Amino acid sequence: MTDAPERALVVMAHPDDADFSCAGTVALWAEAGTEVVYLMVTDGEAGGDELTLDSSEIAAMRREEQRRAAAEVGVKDVRFLGYPDGRVVASLDLRRDIARVIRQVRPERVVTLSPERDWDSIAASHPDHMAAGEAAINAVFPDARNPHAHRELLTEEGLAPWTVAQVWVVGGPKPHHPSDITDVFERKMAALAAHESQIGDITELEPMVRQWMAANAAEAGLPAGRLAETFRIINTA
Ligand SMILES: [Zn+2]
Repeated sequence: MTDAPERALVVMAHPDDADFSCAGTVALWAEAGTEVVYLMVTDGEAGGDELTLDSSEIAAMRREEQRRAAAEVGVKDVRFLGYPDGRVVASLDLRRDIARVIRQVRPERVVTLSPERDWDSIAASHPDHMAAGEAAINAVFPDARNPHAHRELLTEEGLAPWTVAQVWVVGGPKPHHPSDITDVFERKMAALAAHESQIGDITELEPMVRQWMAANAAEAGLPAGRLAETFRIINTA
């Protein structure tokens, strides 16, 4: 159930969401042969302190940063839907656009953000995160598998229905599955470091991320010294 799948699709709201939440696990799957595709709902043009560039320049920079971050963990296919950063809602259009990519990629596993607010982590529960997660879950069930949903995907684009077996949710309440990323922690940090416009000094971020991952591991009962990303695994077959 938790082995590396053949294909995985990671649906996130912003560039850098995957790197904070699941890039270590992605690195492990990619090493094991999983073909991983990243899908970013926005270009992240509302992130960071840069106010001298216009939003299209920031968007281009953040797309490039995300492509470099993805390459650090073995992901070559990075797609962007271009929804406006800070204004994401779980609309039917967004559900269709995510369902389209699910039908194109045909992943056994989707990783996405929690639609549920985590009251212990207000930053994890950014409204774009919850909206992207809600749309992604609805794209998994029922849209991607139901031939009647978004009929144009089938009739005009020739995209057959596809059933995703599992969804791995990050950033919400009640994660129960630890993924031990101790051996690839440096690669996760290299991916985070690619987001130069967002993270400031990587040497200050590193101990914080290490501490979060150590706390995840301890909470999950892993031995001392281990680092973990955590997920809530949903059976969606
Ligand atoms: Zn985000």
